Amino acid sequence: MLHQGSCHCGQIAFEVEGDFTEGLDCNCSLCRRRGGLLAFVPADAFRLKTPENALSTYRFNTRVLQHHFCANCGIAPFSDGQNGEGAATKAINLRCLPDMDLDALKITKWDGAHH
Ligand SMILES: [Zn+2]
Repeated sequence: MLHQGSCHCGQIAFEVEGDFTEGLDCNCSLCRRRGGLLAFVPADAFRLKTPENALSTYRFNTRVLQHHFCANCGIAPFSDGQNGEGAATKAINLRCLPDMDLDALKITKWDGAHH
């Protein structure tokens, strides 16, 4: 299923293909502060609809992951990273998909603090 996603003000908008039934609630030092509910998709399941230069990017720790956010409204809709095989992967904040029924998601605790 194709979902539309965005930050709050709309400077960042995207669409992502996926049948999301589960959201990861991560306890790393970033996620515990900003909230969010993550799902990982291959990069080719994702299409950015707004200009690349609307993305502000935060890196920490190993600096491998690129946590994108909107400098205007402060919302962080997705991050760029790699899976265990080195393939480009997006971490989608499912809270930024307005059509997503968040209450229907199975919430899985993800121990990002120790990964
Ligand atoms: Zn915004």
